[in-house]
Amino acid sequence: MSENPHVVYDRRFNALIFGHTKLEKLWTGARWAEGPAYFPAGRYLVFSDIPNDRLMRFDEGSNTVSVFRSPCFNENGHSVDRQGRLISCEHRGRAVTRTGFDGRREVLATTWRGKKFNSPNDVTVKSDGSIWFTDPNYGIDTEYEGDAAPMEQDGCYVYRIAAEGGAVTAVITDMNKPNGIAFSPDESLLYVADTGATHDPSVAPVIRAFPVSADGASVGEGKVFATCDAGFFDGFRVDVHGNIWSSAGDGVHCFAADGTLLGKIPVPEICANVTFGGVKRNRLYICGQTSLYSLFLNTKGLPFC
Ligand code: MG
Repeated sequence: MSENPHVVYDRRFNALIFGHTKLEKLWTGARWAEGPAYFPAGRYLVFSDIPNDRLMRFDEGSNTVSVFRSPCFNENGHSVDRQGRLISCEHRGRAVTRTGFDGRREVLATTWRGKKFNSPNDVTVKSDGSIWFTDPNYGIDTEYEGDAAPMEQDGCYVYRIAAEGGAVTAVITDMNKPNGIAFSPDESLLYVADTGATHDPSVAPVIRAFPVSADGASVGEGKVFATCDAGFFDGFRVDVHGNIWSSAGDGVHCFAADGTLLGKIPVPEICANVTFGGVKRNRLYICGQTSLYSLFLNTKGLPFC
């Protein structure tokens, strides 16, 4: 058997990976790949190529990549709701949208307290149908990933769109540039990454864990869950055991629910986001800068993440 290409820090990692599997490079040609979301019924993955203003589609059956839609308001992060619809974060639209069964784009939210969002970045859908997303300003601070514009909000916050009525509330206001976002399997914790180090080296590259309130509509004070030792954490997903699989500067880092760094999957490009796919949800898709990668794991991702 060939040498394990993955980095094991904790024996628990061995039960989550196959030592003989290699990272597969599926496609290259993006300027900045981000925002993967998987559709089991069609066995395809969509992912963003933000600076090129296009949403790509990888088909598992044919192993090919095509353009899903372009222009696309410089979409970034995506998720799939409980009805199987695509939820999108748009930099240029400064909006969170839903692509309905008829294929039409429906704007769900663009403002909080009468002011435009910065540039919604990443999103997750809770089991009650509420949509939780982060709003750093990467899409408006230059012309590269959206349209440059001044911030209207006083900061970069995390918001919730209620399932009923679509009311928007700010749920986290004490982060620098909140980015990746996901719930623990029982939804008792909300994990959020901070990428503020891109503009201010004094901002720690962490994922914080916030306790979700009893009514499921807000969170308590967040604690540092993990600190990145290579670049910073951007997008991430959670598996059925509660392990966190996060993008980082040198690949994918896997943390146990207790915060232990279990291991790493080295990737030859900076990683921006991941998601689980495949008919068994045991295939990790990785958006690495210019390319799309995948790796089969011995665990499964949470559905609708
Ligand atoms: Mg992101």
